[in-house]
Amino acid sequence: MAIKLPIVDKARSEGRVVLTEVESKEFLKSAGIDVVDTRLATSKEEAISISQQLGFPVVLKIASPDIVHKSDDGGVKLGLETANQVGEAYDQILGAIRQKHPKARVQGVAVQKMARPGVEVIIGMSKDAQFGPVLMFGLGGILVEVLKDVSFRIVPLSRRDAAEMLREIKGYPLLEGYRGQEAVDISHLEELLIKVSDFVEKNPEIRELDLNPVFAYSDGAIAVDARVILEEGK
Ligand code: ADP
Ligand code: MG
Repeated sequence: MAIKLPIVDKARSEGRVVLTEVESKEFLKSAGIDVVDTRLATSKEEAISISQQLGFPVVLKIASPDIVHKSDDGGVKLGLETANQVGEAYDQILGAIRQKHPKARVQGVAVQKMARPGVEVIIGMSKDAQFGPVLMFGLGGILVEVLKDVSFRIVPLSRRDAAEMLREIKGYPLLEGYRGQEAVDISHLEELLIKVSDFVEKNPEIRELDLNPVFAYSDGAIAVDARVILEEGK
C-alpha cells in the first residue's frame, strides 16, 4: 500500500508536483532510506537555532519547489562552522535567489549536517513508456554528467540486478577504493538500490526520483540531496 504522507497532500493542495529537498528527504526517510537530517528554517534565528541543535558544521540550502539546481544560483552554502556564518549564509542565499529568481516560491532555507566526504554516487528513477519505472545508478560529478557512465534496470530489482548495476559501470573500481580513497560497502549499496526499488514500487504516485548525490562509505551510505516529483493530478 502506498505510504500516505501529509507532505504529499500538502504539495498537491498547493498544486505542486515537485517536492522540496526537505519534503523529499522526509518521504525517503519514512521508507527507511538514510538521508542527512534536514530541517526547514523560515527565519535567520530559526536557522541558527537548528544549526546549534544539529551541531556544526552545517549546510544551508534554498528550499523552493521552483529551484532545481540549487548550487548553480548561489542557493547552497557548505561547511558553516559558527552561528555567525549561518546567519550570513542565510541572507546571502535569500539575496541571491531573490535576484536570480524573483518569482520563485520560497519556503525558507533547509539546514542540515555537513556530511563527511564519501564516494559520490547517484541513484535515479524515471518512468519509461514501455517498461515503467527504471532505476539508474552512476558515480557523481563528471562521470555521470560528461561520460554518461550509468547503468539501468527495470523495477522491481532483484538482488542480482542490483549487483550487476553496480559492477556494470566503468567507474566501478572507484567504489573498491582508489588512490587512498575509502572503499565503499558494496553490499550496502546493493541493499540501498533494492530499497529504492521497493520505495518506487510501493509509491506509484512518484513520477521521478533523484538522489544526487548519495555519499557512499565503508560502513553505509547517505543521501545528501534528494528530489521527488509526483505524477500530475492524482
Ligand atoms: P544541487 O541542487 O545543486 O544539486 P546539492 O544539494 O546536491 O544541490 O548540493 C550541491 C553539492 O554540495 C552536492 O553535490 C554535494 O557535493 C555537496 N553537499 C550538499 N549537501 C551536503 C551535505 N549535507 N554535506 C556535505 N556535502 C553536501
Ligand atoms: Mg544535487
